[in-house]
Amino acid sequence: MILKTAGILSRRFLFTTAATKMSSTAKKLDGRIAIVTASTDGIGFAIAKRLASDGAQVVVSSRKQKNVDAAVAKLKLEGLSVTGMVCHVGLKEDREKLIEKTVSLFGGLDILISNAAVNPVFGPVLSCPEDAWDKIFDINVKTAFLLAKSAVPHMEKRGRGSIIFISSIAGFQPFSALGAYSVSKTALLGLTKVLAQEVGHSGIRVNCIAPGVIQTKFSSMLVDNDDVRNKVLEGIPLQRIGQPEDMGGLASFLCSDDASFITGENIIAAGGAQSRL
Ligand code: NAP
Repeated sequence: MILKTAGILSRRFLFTTAATKMSSTAKKLDGRIAIVTASTDGIGFAIAKRLASDGAQVVVSSRKQKNVDAAVAKLKLEGLSVTGMVCHVGLKEDREKLIEKTVSLFGGLDILISNAAVNPVFGPVLSCPEDAWDKIFDINVKTAFLLAKSAVPHMEKRGRGSIIFISSIAGFQPFSALGAYSVSKTALLGLTKVLAQEVGHSGIRVNCIAPGVIQTKFSSMLVDNDDVRNKVLEGIPLQRIGQPEDMGGLASFLCSDDASFITGENIIAAGGAQSRL
């Protein structure tokens, strides 16, 4: 009798220990397949790294093969499950290859982070040349829409999915020197709302992150000059410039089941900088 009880207890102990071990090693994005565009540097790289650290199989991409190779090597050195592909988001064949190859390599697609953007001109919107306007809207808005359009059928097959657009606080509170860029980022807020309504019934969630000023090459004009940087800091209650890693945790949360009832939301992560639509 004593032996039998000891046997049951030790089996229970083994089971509990194994279960505890499993739950402590399970990661929130285990089994998810993710594409992050423009992810060999800056915010995209930090998001790719965080999704992979949280268990996702991540495909990183950008225009230049050497940047893709370097980013993949860096992430693999940390033991993360990543693959790389060249994708200039403005090229149809690159976009199609990115989605189709990801699906054929890994068997599906669960997460799309549309992060690429350009800003070829500085100044008020009325001084924006037509060709610069077209480029801004092509890369920042149209390719985000087209990538989502190609990704949705694959997510529908899985019965789940998460799309995140990377907008900007400038989409809420326009930056004076970034007129046309600000309009393009406001357009992404609308795309988020519309798409969330259209694909919700398939279990696909669509959200948007609007970063404040984050230290990357893209923002070097704002953060590298001490005077400009100090002016920027005056408007940030947390009194610091954001780091790309500040966006990683938010993106991972929005893709995870922890955010299972959140869709159609535009979330500002800007250290408290003022914003309004
Ligand atoms: P970044 O540091 O300059 O990163 C640029 C990345 O994009 C690189 O990996 C680059 O690699 C890739 N890239 C550039 N053009 C591309 C294209 N046409 N197709 C594919 N990849 C491309 O930029 P970031 O600051 O991280 O910005 C990322 C996103 O955050 C953008 O949507 C931006 O509008 C938004 N954002 C940034 C800030 C900020 O303060 N930094 C604030 C608000 C919003 P290759 O050169 O190899 O292509």
